[in-house]
Amino acid sequence: MLAHGMHAEGSTVAKRIAALGYDYGAQAKERSAGCNLCGAHGHSDAVAEQDRYGYPATCVVCRRCGLAYLSPRLSATGYTHFYAGVYRPLVSAYHGRRIDAESVQLEQRGYAARLATFLRPLLPFPPRTILDVGGSTGVVAGVLAARLDAHATVLDPAPDELAVAAAAGMETFAGLAEDFDPGERSWDLVLLCQTIDHLLDVGATLAALRRMTAAGGRAFVDILDLDLVLRREGSIERAVKVDHPFYLTRSTAAAFFALSGYMIVAECLSDDGHRGFVLAPAPCAEPDWPALGAGAEEFLDRLWALCRRS
Ligand SMILES: [Zn+2]
Repeated sequence: MLAHGMHAEGSTVAKRIAALGYDYGAQAKERSAGCNLCGAHGHSDAVAEQDRYGYPATCVVCRRCGLAYLSPRLSATGYTHFYAGVYRPLVSAYHGRRIDAESVQLEQRGYAARLATFLRPLLPFPPRTILDVGGSTGVVAGVLAARLDAHATVLDPAPDELAVAAAAGMETFAGLAEDFDPGERSWDLVLLCQTIDHLLDVGATLAALRRMTAAGGRAFVDILDLDLVLRREGSIERAVKVDHPFYLTRSTAAAFFALSGYMIVAECLSDDGHRGFVLAPAPCAEPDWPALGAGAEEFLDRLWALCRRS
């Protein structure tokens, strides 16, 4: 496929990105062990060989279930290094404005306020406890806890970000959701905000989320919907970015939720292509695999049509 990830303003953006000196192509990669949603091996088509930053990243789509993901991708160590020093400068270079801890916090406050307004009437009872998985400095957990009069807990792999949450009086745990052992504890409201696309194992994380959601409680998970991003960007290369190992759609997200024991009770859409889901614990259920396969085929046809047009 022809690389057309960069548009007219691309040369300035490309120069800014090149100035960071991060050689994505030279980093150690690992091939996916199989589709994270359906478990299929070798049933995927490569749909992009370059991402929006111009990095040589391969995105594949599983023909059995329609899940889009990077393969090969950076190892867990590679991603740790990427988030420690590359991610924020890269996103800043791409957008041409400074995106750092401060600007992110400001953005998150607005996001959290909108989320609290959306969630409040949908919750079956006022939550006493909230857990934010991948909750960073605790901005979202803090705003929600204040608005819903609940106690906030933040789970995140970055100790320096957690320190900010702890200083604000929140309970914190360092680690990844899939490795975290909460013992018998569960939370009335569990959040996974603007995080799922960055995970290395969506299925395991959702299973962990489910274990931590109190009976009768709720979870909120949002995805950057690949269908919506494609419609906006008009090309798969502009939708792919190395910071997102996974690219979910409404159907693949719903399949993940069913498998991990959640049912969708409400949804919302934001202008930037994020689709949010309010989830209630339910028995684990098999998704409709043939329907997902048919959806995958349609999706691939649409991609090839987009590719021929450009
Ligand atoms: Zn699959």
